[in-house]
Amino acid sequence: MRKIIVQKFGGTSVADTDKIKNVAKIVIKEKENGNDVVVVVSAMGHTTDHLVKMAKDLSPNPSEREMDMLLSTGEGVSIALLAMAVQAQGYDAVSYNAMQIGIMTENIHSKARILGIKTEKLKRDLKNGKIIVIAGFQGVTEDGEITTLGRGGSDTSAVALAAALNAERCDIYTDVEGVYTTDPRVVPHASKLKEISYEEMLELAHAGANVLHPRSVETAKLNNVPLRVRSSFKLDNLGTLILGVEKMELNKPVAGVAQDLSQARIVVCDVPDKPGVAAKLFSKLAQENISVDMIIQSYARKVSNTNDIAFTVDKADLHKTIAALESLKTEIGATGDIEVDENIAKVSIVGAGMIDRPGVASTMFETLAENGINIRMISTSEIKISCLVDKEQAALAVKSLHSVFKLDSDVKADVKGDLPNI
Ligand code: ADP
Ligand code: ASP
Ligand code: MG
Repeated sequence: MRKIIVQKFGGTSVADTDKIKNVAKIVIKEKENGNDVVVVVSAMGHTTDHLVKMAKDLSPNPSEREMDMLLSTGEGVSIALLAMAVQAQGYDAVSYNAMQIGIMTENIHSKARILGIKTEKLKRDLKNGKIIVIAGFQGVTEDGEITTLGRGGSDTSAVALAAALNAERCDIYTDVEGVYTTDPRVVPHASKLKEISYEEMLELAHAGANVLHPRSVETAKLNNVPLRVRSSFKLDNLGTLILGVEKMELNKPVAGVAQDLSQARIVVCDVPDKPGVAAKLFSKLAQENISVDMIIQSYARKVSNTNDIAFTVDKADLHKTIAALESLKTEIGATGDIEVDENIAKVSIVGAGMIDRPGVASTMFETLAENGINIRMISTSEIKISCLVDKEQAALAVKSLHSVFKLDSDVKADVKGDLPNI
C-alpha cells in the first residue's frame, strides 16, 4: 500500500510566488518518491498579522466570531495558489478549505480544538492520484460556523490530518533548519537537535518555542505520529525528528530554553482568605474559555485576613479576563485593585534530564541573579522550571541560561524570513 506523507508549509515558505514554486517542487518530489501527499499551508508571509492589525484599527476589541471570519481568509489564498503551481508542473492537485472537507471543531472562536476530520473525500482523491492542498488553522463547527485553532495552529491541522489519515509521517517545513536548543533568533549559536521526545517538545512549545504549536505536539504524541521539523530552503538537512525516544542516559539536564512574551500578569488584590474564593475566580475564567498559566496566592495578612492572587494569561485574553474579574469582584469580596502588567516574559528551562538532579533550579536562579534579573513568579513541572521576569531582561535571561547549561554550538543557525514589522 502507498504511504501517506503530510507536509506543512508555514508563512515564510509561501511568502511569494517564487517561494510557492519552491514548495510545489518539494511536494512533487515527495509524490515522485512514490508516496501519496497531503499538503497543509499557512497564510502567505505576514498576512495574518496584517489582518489582525486592520481589525484592531477598526475596533479595540473585535468580536471573536468576526476575527475568525477574517483570519481564516489568509489560508484560502495560499491553498489555491499552491494547487495552481502544482498543476502548472503537470500534476493533478486540488485545494480544499476546512469547511469543504469537514475539519470539525468545538464551537469556540479563536482557539477551537479539532474534534474529528472527515476523510472519505480525501481518501478518494488520493486514490485517484491527486495531490491535496488543505488550508491550515481553520475549522468548522457542527452548525457551519468557521473557527480558527489559535495563532500558529496550522501545525495542529497538519498533525491532526496525519493522525486521521494514518500517515507515515508529518513533515513541518519552516524557516529554520529544525528545533534548536532555543530560538536561534535570540541565540544565533543555538544548537540544532537531531531528535527530541514528545514530552520535552511539548513543554518547550508550551513555554513559548513557537516553532511548533503546542497542540500539534500533543496530537502527535497522542496518536503516535512521527513529526519532523525541517527547512523549506535547505533540503539536504533532515531537521529534527520528534518522537517517543527512550534515552538510556540523559547526559544534559537541560534540553532547551524558551521565552514567552505573549503573557500578561494580573493581580487581584485583597481577596478574603477563605475556602472557595480561588475556586470561584478560576471557574469564572474557565467558563469564559480563558487559560491561566502561572498562579501564586500570597500568604494571608493577619490583620485584614486577606491575600492577593496573581496569575498570568495570554495577552489576547486580557480584555475578557479583566471584564470577568470586574464582574466577580463584589461576589468574592475582593476590596483591592486589579493590577495588570504586560511588561513581563516567561523564561523556561526544559529537560527530562533534570529529574532527580538536584541543583538545576538553584543554577537557574543563581544565573538570573548574577545577571541582575529579578524573578517575579516561579512555576515548575517535573521537566520544566519557569520564571517570570521583566520583558526587557528576557533575552539576557535566555542567553545566560543557554550558556550556563552548555547548550551553545560552534555554528551559527541559518534563519530565513523576517519578523513582522507592524
Ligand atoms: P512557520 O511560519 O513556518 O510556522 P513560525 O514562525 O511559526 O514558522 O516558527 C518558526 C520560528 O520559531 C523560527 O523562525 C524561530 O524564530 C522560532 N523558534 C522559537 N523557538 C525555537 C526553537 N527552539 N527552535 C527553532 N525555532 C524556534
Ligand atoms: N496563519 C496563522 C497564523 O499566522 C496560522 C499559522 O501560521 O499556523 O497564526
Ligand atoms: Mg508556526
